Amino acid sequence: MKNLIFIAPPAAGKGTISEMIENRFHLPHISTGDLLRDEIAHMTKLGLEIKDTMARGEFVSDEVITKLLKKRLSSKDVKKGYILDGYPRNINQAKEYDKLLEELSFDMGKVIYLVIDKETATKRALSRVVCKSCGASYNLSNPDLSPVREGICDHCNNELSVRSDDNKETFKTRFDTYMKETYPLIEYYKEKNNLIEIDASKSPNEIFEEIKKVIK
Ligand code: AMP
Repeated sequence: MKNLIFIAPPAAGKGTISEMIENRFHLPHISTGDLLRDEIAHMTKLGLEIKDTMARGEFVSDEVITKLLKKRLSSKDVKKGYILDGYPRNINQAKEYDKLLEELSFDMGKVIYLVIDKETATKRALSRVVCKSCGASYNLSNPDLSPVREGICDHCNNELSVRSDDNKETFKTRFDTYMKETYPLIEYYKEKNNLIEIDASKSPNEIFEEIKKVIK
């Protein structure tokens, strides 16, 4: 089983790298942010409850997110491994995840820590556009990461848009919340001896090369 978890500040490139791994290794990319955005897009009861919280850049409750993840990890397609992007995001979720792995008899796998400074992450967030249909992410400040046709997704031809939480003020909240809640996970996984640090200021291709070695 090949399981990877990404821990990184918002806009470090988790989504882009996860997509590259998904395509090359055929491992499903499970993004808890995407699972939640999906609930909002479909205007489910949960979607309506979490919409404002997400727009403010705050976390949704551990209970809600763990339940959604548990449901996703019960699908058949994760049996050979998966890429987990956006979970766990605090120590309580990490402990819940440990329990979940035990329950499902899944391997812990490797935890990839993408290291990036606040200024670079902010710049990336403010030039990011995403496809609401397939979840693909683009960066308009980098020609290599821009869509071929302006405003149109290369993968599914749907319209691209700016995420409602990718504005300067909300991004600051998300980054500060990351430092307070998520950053302590680095120590948690260092102690478990399965943390791999990668410099996320490099290009996606360079990062992908390093991750390929981890997977192989
Ligand atoms: P992301 O797409 O990973 O940047 O997540 C976008 C937003 O979804 C976050 O700012 C949170 O509001 C919410 N979210 C995603 N994953 C989690 C999680 N594990 N725990 C709490 N909130 C989450």
